[in-house]
Amino acid sequence: VPPHARADPGGNVRVVVRVRAFLPREIERNAQCLIRMDPVRQRTTLLVPNDTDPANARARSRKVVEEKTFTFDKSFWSHDPNDEHYATQEDIYDSLGEEFLDHNFEGYHTCIFAYGQTGSGKSYTMMGTPDQPGLIPRTCEDLFERIAAAQEETPNISYNVRVSYFEVYNEHVRDLLVPVVPHQPPYYLKIRESPTEGPYVKDLTEVPVRSLQEILRYMRMGDSNRTTASTKMNDTSSRSHAVFTIMLKQIHHDLETDETTERSSRIRLVDLAGSERAKSTEATGQRLREGSNINKSLTTLGRVIAALADPKQQRGRNGSRKDHNSSSSSSSSSVVPYRDSILTWLLKDSLGGNSKTAMIACIAPSDYEETLSTLRYADQAK
Ligand code: ADP
Repeated sequence: VPPHARADPGGNVRVVVRVRAFLPREIERNAQCLIRMDPVRQRTTLLVPNDTDPANARARSRKVVEEKTFTFDKSFWSHDPNDEHYATQEDIYDSLGEEFLDHNFEGYHTCIFAYGQTGSGKSYTMMGTPDQPGLIPRTCEDLFERIAAAQEETPNISYNVRVSYFEVYNEHVRDLLVPVVPHQPPYYLKIRESPTEGPYVKDLTEVPVRSLQEILRYMRMGDSNRTTASTKMNDTSSRSHAVFTIMLKQIHHDLETDETTERSSRIRLVDLAGSERAKSTEATGQRLREGSNINKSLTTLGRVIAALADPKQQRGRNGSRKDHNSSSSSSSSSVVPYRDSILTWLLKDSLGGNSKTAMIACIAPSDYEETLSTLRYADQAK
């Protein structure tokens, strides 16, 4: 198996894991890497901490003795850049992003989530840095390259791309493409349900984009709005879910019959709130409410994905391509708990039916308790 072959091509749900390099603070305190990966069998093993790293004091005091091994669709080793199996940003895109974009051009909705504790590499994976762009900018780049190539080859198909960017914080939705007004509390949008389209955010900004530069500009604008609001409100960004959505419409003009047909798909790229369990000492009042809302979204999301990955669900979802956008009519959707959180409710269209979903579980190399909880979460979502 080539190390960065695409994640398992079957099924509608993919679960992968990625471990990041040590940060300077971890090198400083002489942290131990508790992760081993088997790049052939896609296994991830969490070792028992035996060092004196303060991050693992609790695990040691509980006398954890067992190492734990999990199998995922892919295990991405991004810990040591000198290792031959090191997974770069490009590898992640080639293994997951590219295939998901294929599905979008085939007319499917897709959704990629980054899950993990704060500092585990979620934004690095989704957004990346200017030098090391992540999944979102790479998807945008590939999208516009494909459109340019298709316009040469098939001039009778035209393309329409729009983008929106919002965050869900404390079960409220905030538009990230609307500038933050200084000295004003954030403005939250309402959620509505349309009989044909399902749940949606009322008055959410959706802008048409014609080029890579344009879409990246909106991406950065949204990001900076998120950071500005977050700084004002005590670093809320680690406690909010950021949903970047690209809407792709392909308009096919049949030259013989002069008829036009449209195919629409949504590409959702989601940087989830930090999954760290609320530490009992700080979790009071507002924090506690936030914590339980974050947990509500994250646990519901885990349950929704697990329900979708369940083979019993798959059997109920073998609908024809034509009705893949209207999963609400499928008899099996009633048992999927979309309604239990704002995030899953809003992403219903991109999670059910024949949509493709991927979860990237990001893990830090030296934090036993949080990493175990992330691996368990990812494992039950398979
Ligand atoms: P999160 O979004 O989960 O809070 P970040 O993406 O901000 O975490 O990552 C925390 C830090 O680790 C950042 O400084 C980021 O640049 C760095 N980092 C994360 N993943 C990697 C990686 N695979 N390779 C190198 N640096 C990484």
